[in-house]
Amino acid sequence: MTWQLVESNGIRYCRSQLLADFPWLQQGFSTRDQAPGGRAAAETEQEYRRRFFGLFQLTPEQTQLVKQVHGDTVLKVEELRPGKEWPEADAMITNRPGIGLATVHADCVPVILVDPVHRAIAAVHAGWKGTLAGIIRKTVARLGVEYGSVPAECYAAIGPAIGSCCYRVSPERVALFAEKWPELDLTASRQESTLDLALINQKFLENCGFPPEQIDNARLCTACHHGDFYSFRREQVTGRMLSLVVMK
Ligand SMILES: [Zn+2]
Repeated sequence: MTWQLVESNGIRYCRSQLLADFPWLQQGFSTRDQAPGGRAAAETEQEYRRRFFGLFQLTPEQTQLVKQVHGDTVLKVEELRPGKEWPEADAMITNRPGIGLATVHADCVPVILVDPVHRAIAAVHAGWKGTLAGIIRKTVARLGVEYGSVPAECYAAIGPAIGSCCYRVSPERVALFAEKWPELDLTASRQESTLDLALINQKFLENCGFPPEQIDNARLCTACHHGDFYSFRREQVTGRMLSLVVMK
């Protein structure tokens, strides 16, 4: 499905059309360029976050962020503890309405998982290390343990991330994936080796039992669409986009 570009209160963000069908759910992925009257040069990251979360009727105090460390820790969020240091994790799950889950991205894959039957959500930050570690599989398993989620009943949105078009890596890195996860059917070629991290996460979800039609992969490359997104690969020093999900 094509992701929708939405503009609200001077902020442009995109969202999965598939997940937009759930009236009790809100999700969005911020862009780099804000509309006229939007992010001014002087606006700090904190102010921008406040404004972005506000689009979803959330304050920063109602939104859980984590210290992302490219690991595979899944945090269960039951209550917000404003002022406390962010815990180290790269995925979060919750079944509490009104608690926003937000991850921060420049090229790494943002994944949102939704269980409409048990009303639970997850937000995942999957860079190459987290993807290799199987963080998405771990998050699906944790949703099952904590909330009784069944993959066949769940939905997923895979947001803008660096595409294989722009993500050249060493053959050794492709081999790491191929060896650890033969199910992915990856073959490393000596001439050109690339990784499609969004597609790999999609395959993991399908292998976990997500029906393909319940997975919405944006297929938007953050490096190709540099007018819309920040790309660490392309720019080295860059800003970050926010991926957010919340149940009303
Ligand atoms: Zn690209």
